[in-house]
Amino acid sequence: MKFLLILVLLIILYFRFVKGQKRVCQKKERKELITELVFDENCGTYINKNSAIRIKFGDKEYYFCSKKCAEEFLKKLQDSQ
Ligand SMILES: [Zn+2]
Repeated sequence: MKFLLILVLLIILYFRFVKGQKRVCQKKERKELITELVFDENCGTYINKNSAIRIKFGDKEYYFCSKKCAEEFLKKLQDSQ
């Protein structure tokens, strides 16, 4: 009987351990999604995607840290074409 009790206890502990690890993984993934960085091609810095200004030009999408950067980059693009 004692052996059976220990076995059950071990199984419970094992499942708790596995579930705990899964939770940690999900938290990590969420953090990565929130802090996803995008490249500002005008001033060359990385910015948070959530706070970045998104501009579609042709079939490409660009991200900028400010409106000023977006306008400058668009001007450069138009000059080069
Ligand atoms: Zn910028």
